[in-house]
Amino acid sequence: MLHELLEVSYRCPHCGEENETLVDPSGGSDQTYTEDCSVCCRANLIRVTISGEGTPSIAVEFEE
Ligand SMILES: [Zn+2]
Repeated sequence: MLHELLEVSYRCPHCGEENETLVDPSGGSDQTYTEDCSVCCRANLIRVTISGEGTPSIAVEFEE
């Protein structure tokens, strides 16, 4: 079965702009990675948890 990337949006804690990130569910139900904001290019620490139903939830923190 093919897995699909989940598109999740979050608000950049640096500049407040909306960003979208793609989450690969095959990477596990609890994933942490850094991604640069597409607007201000500062790094955000992204933490995604995926529920048993496959619904992602996202938390974003500053990455210095
Ligand atoms: Zn930003």
